[in-house]
Amino acid sequence: MWMTARITAARGPVLRCKGWRQEALLRMLENVLENGENQQELIVYASLGKAARDWPSYRAIVETLIHLEEEETLVIQSGKPIGVFRTHAAAPLVVMANCNLVGRWATAEHFYDLQEKGLLIWGGLTAAAWQYIGSQGVIQGTYEIFQSIARRYFDGSLQGRFVLTAGLGGMGGAQPLAGTMANAAILCVEVSEERVDKRIQAGYLQKKTFDLAEALGWIDEAVQRKESISVGLVANAAEIYPLLLAKGIVPDVVTDQTSAHDLLYGYIPEGYTPESAEQLRQRNPQLLEELSGRSIAKEVTAMLGFLERGAIVFDNGNNIRTQAKKFGVEEAFNIDIFTEAFLRPLFARGIGPFRWVALSGDREDIAKIDELILQEFSHNEIVVNWIRLANRYVPVEGLPARIGWFGHGERSRLALLVNEWVREGKLAGPVAFTRDHLDAGAMTHPNIMTERMKDGSDAVSDWPLLNAMLNCSSMADLVAIHSGGGGYAGYMTSAGATVVADGTEAAALRLQTALLNDTGLGILRYADAGYEESLDEVKQKGIRRIVTESEQEENLCVN
Ligand code: NAD
Repeated sequence: MWMTARITAARGPVLRCKGWRQEALLRMLENVLENGENQQELIVYASLGKAARDWPSYRAIVETLIHLEEEETLVIQSGKPIGVFRTHAAAPLVVMANCNLVGRWATAEHFYDLQEKGLLIWGGLTAAAWQYIGSQGVIQGTYEIFQSIARRYFDGSLQGRFVLTAGLGGMGGAQPLAGTMANAAILCVEVSEERVDKRIQAGYLQKKTFDLAEALGWIDEAVQRKESISVGLVANAAEIYPLLLAKGIVPDVVTDQTSAHDLLYGYIPEGYTPESAEQLRQRNPQLLEELSGRSIAKEVTAMLGFLERGAIVFDNGNNIRTQAKKFGVEEAFNIDIFTEAFLRPLFARGIGPFRWVALSGDREDIAKIDELILQEFSHNEIVVNWIRLANRYVPVEGLPARIGWFGHGERSRLALLVNEWVREGKLAGPVAFTRDHLDAGAMTHPNIMTERMKDGSDAVSDWPLLNAMLNCSSMADLVAIHSGGGGYAGYMTSAGATVVADGTEAAALRLQTALLNDTGLGILRYADAGYEESLDEVKQKGIRRIVTESEQEENLCVN
C-alpha cells in the first residue's frame, strides 16, 4: 500500500496528540519526510537513509504517537514500531535502534539482504531518528570546514579561490551555499539534472550548465573578480575530475560528496545516468558495484593528482577513500578526513552541530531566537558570525529551523532561555532541540569521525552506546542508536537525542539535564583519548571526570 497525499509537517497550535512532547516528535517525523529526497520511498537522504521501514510502519507510528500517554515509551526497531511500554513521565517517549548488526555480520551483503527482506533499514544519521532539518543541517559544518581551510591556508578568506566538489544530494546540496557564504567560486559536479534543479529552486545553487567549458568560464571570471559563485555542472565526477587534471587545471580546494559509500544504490559510474544505473542494478548488481568501484578509483586517483599539485584535498565523510582503496588505490588515505583535519579541535571541546526546530511552523520564532542568540551569546564568534549569515542566506526548508555549533553549557543555556519564552508566550509554539549524530561523544566511525584518535581508540563504539544510555537516563524525549548500512555497514555506530521545550518546568529539567550530559560525555570521550582541549574544558567547566590511579601515575611520569 502506498501513500496517497504528500506528507508535510503539521503547523500551528492544534494538537493531534495527547501532549506537545508527542506532537513534537510526530511533527519531526513528518518534517524529515517533507524535507526528504524521495518521499514515495520514505527516503530522506544518502540514497537509502529512511524515516520509517515502510508505509504501514509509518502509519502505525503516527497512530501510536497520537494515542501515546506521557508515561509511556514507544519502541521502534529499524523504522518499525514494535510496542508501547508503561514507563514514567521522565522517560523518553520514543527509543529506537536502527540498522545495528553484530560485528561479523555487519557487512554490506548482509545489510542489502536484510533490507530486501524488509527486516531493517539504514537510518542515516538523522533520517530514521527524525532529526533532519534539510540541507541546512550540514551547511554550517561545511561552512566551518571552508572557513577553517581559509584560516589555515589562504590568509583567512576563500575570496578568489576555486573549490571543486561533486554531489548535490540531501547533504551534498549544502555545499554550493556554504561555498558562496565563504566567498569562494565553487563548482559542483552532479550527475542528476533533477538534483541540480532542486538545489537551484531551494536557493542553494546559482547556476546550471551541461558544458564544462562554460562552467570553467564562469568560475574563472568569478575568481579573477574575487567574487563568489556556485555552478552546478550536470556531469559525472569520475569523468570531470580526471579531465580537469589532464587539462592542468588545479582547483585550490577539492572534495566530493556523492553517495560514494554505497556502490549499489548511491554512486553512479561513468557513462551512466541515475536511470540507466537503476536498470543495471535490476539486471546485474555485481557489475554495477564493480563499475561504481572502478569509477570511484578513477575519481580518487585524480583527487590524489590534485593533492600532489598543491590543492587542499579532503574526504567529506562519504567513505570515498575506503571504496577507492578496495578498488586498488593504495594511497587513497593520503587524503585527509575533514573531521580530523578541521573539526576535531571543536568536537574536543564539545562544540558541534546543535539545532532547533520551530514546531509552530512560524518563521518568526526562528528569527526571534536568532536575535536572542546575538544578544546572549555575543562573545561566541563562531555562532554570531554564523547566525548573521544564516539569517541572510539560508532558505527555510520544512519547519523553520536553525543549526548552531554550540558547546557545553551553551546548548542547555539557550534551550532554557527558549523554554522560558515558550512559557511566556513570546514564541508561537514549542521548540524541539536536537543535534546531528556526528557530534563529540555520539559517533564512532574510524574512517570519518574517529580516524587517527590520539590514543588509537578509533573503532571503540562503547561511546555512542553510552551516549544513548546517558541520554535516556537524562530524560531526553527521543533517543536513537544507529549503525551503518550499505557501504557504511560495519563502519559506524552513532546516537541521537531530541528534547522538546514546551515551556513547562518538566521540560526545563529535561533540557538542562539531557543537553548538559550529552556534551559532557562528549568532552570526556576526548579527554579520555588525551586531547588537551578537552582536558582544559573539563577544568574550565567543572565536569566530573574520574582519573584512575594508573592515569595519575602516567601523568606524573609525563610531567
Ligand atoms: P544523496 O544520495 O542524497 O546524494 C548523492 C548525490 O550524488 C546524488 O544527487 C547523486 O546523483 C550524486 N552522484 C552520485 N554519483 C555521482 C557521480 N559519479 N558524479 C556526480 N554526481 C554523482 O546523498 P547525500 O545525503 O547528499 O550524502 C552524500 C554523502 O555524504 C553520503 O555518502 C553521506 O553519507 C555523506 N555525508 C557526509 C556528512 C558530513 O557531515 N560530511 C553528513 C552527511 C552525509
